[in-house]
Amino acid sequence: MQTKAYAAQSGTTPLAETVIDRRAPGGSDVAIEILYCGVCHSDLHTARAEWPGTRFPCVPGHEIVGRVTAVGDAVTRVAVGDFAAVGCLVDSCRTCASCGEDLEQYCEGPHGFCGTYNGWADGSGENTYGGYSAGIVVDEHFVLNVRHGEQDLAAVAPLLCAGITTWSPLRHWGAGPGKKVGIVGIGGLGHMGVKLADALGAHVVAFTTSDSKRQDAFKLGADEVVNSRSAEEMAAHARSFDLIVNTVAAPHNLDAFTALLRRDGALVLVGAPSSPHPSPAVFNLIFGRRAIAGSLIGGIKETQEMLDFCAERGITSDVEMIAMQDIEDAYERMLRSDVKYRFVIDMATLKA
Ligand code: NAP
Ligand code: ZN
Ligand code: ZN
Repeated sequence: MQTKAYAAQSGTTPLAETVIDRRAPGGSDVAIEILYCGVCHSDLHTARAEWPGTRFPCVPGHEIVGRVTAVGDAVTRVAVGDFAAVGCLVDSCRTCASCGEDLEQYCEGPHGFCGTYNGWADGSGENTYGGYSAGIVVDEHFVLNVRHGEQDLAAVAPLLCAGITTWSPLRHWGAGPGKKVGIVGIGGLGHMGVKLADALGAHVVAFTTSDSKRQDAFKLGADEVVNSRSAEEMAAHARSFDLIVNTVAAPHNLDAFTALLRRDGALVLVGAPSSPHPSPAVFNLIFGRRAIAGSLIGGIKETQEMLDFCAERGITSDVEMIAMQDIEDAYERMLRSDVKYRFVIDMATLKA
């Protein structure tokens, strides 16, 4: 099926309109007309080949919400006309230990999980194309149900990556009542981290380098806000955090944050800069049995749990709608930390 899309042809060419081929839906497939797609910093890292391994043409986008237009015979969880969502992964081996534990993002099969874009479809080596397109065909196992109201659909899209990527470590490391949780970087991921940690009942501290975001951070649900460039403000929180989730997309000094962990606390890195952070000070870890860890998006079951939790609590993302044609401007603003707090593409602008 010929489908309109926006693609980068190389790491240095701006994204532009193109036509891609989507498979006809098979027995377990769901065809979705894409209504909205969020813009993740990973889209930019990949399209501009900042990380190794981008294959071109590259059609980014893994925060997808749309309407089901066709289903295969074996599909049971969604029907034509339903709203549905697709996140960061569209396949995995489904037989390894991680897949068996609903942790498809850590698939140990020969090809790992198959990303929604820049993934290896069926291990065949074929490139996958993401949500900057008019439609997508995805196996039912990787399609999420959307229980928010229709008026919220655009603001639901960022939950599919920014939401689950912060939710998963918050849950794994036990964010909740009585826990002091820090969120570093108030961008797409970070603003969802603040909302979700607050909804889980933790005491939330937002760390930002942008003083202009201070008031917003309180509105998002932070109990305290710290300018991470102020040594004085940072020192006031020494040895006090159970968990800090760090979403920053650029290399920086991690010691400033490990010093804020209490004994047995963890600094969890979800931001994935294209060049390494300076090596952390080992003594900061040894004295206090502190940990630095990482976390990757979330599995399908956990993503559905997060979506249902958000639907129940009325939680969505704070979004700024853009036209598909404005994607390069959006990337430039993202690089300046000038996003409040997630760009979402109105896919009608591609179809027009
Ligand atoms: P984003 O919207 O650009 O937000 C990143 C925020 O980090 C900025 O808004 C800014 O917040 C802060 N920041 C930026 N540069 C900084 C610097 N030099 N020093 C300190 N703070 C800085 O990006 P995003 O979409 O949230 O993604 C963040 C990172 O997570 C990216 O690297 C992305 O690829 C990665 N990611 C990882 C996963 C995963 O599974 N682990 C999933 C999705 C995305 P302030 O203005 O508040 O300082
Ligand atoms: Zn993402
Ligand atoms: Zn697997």
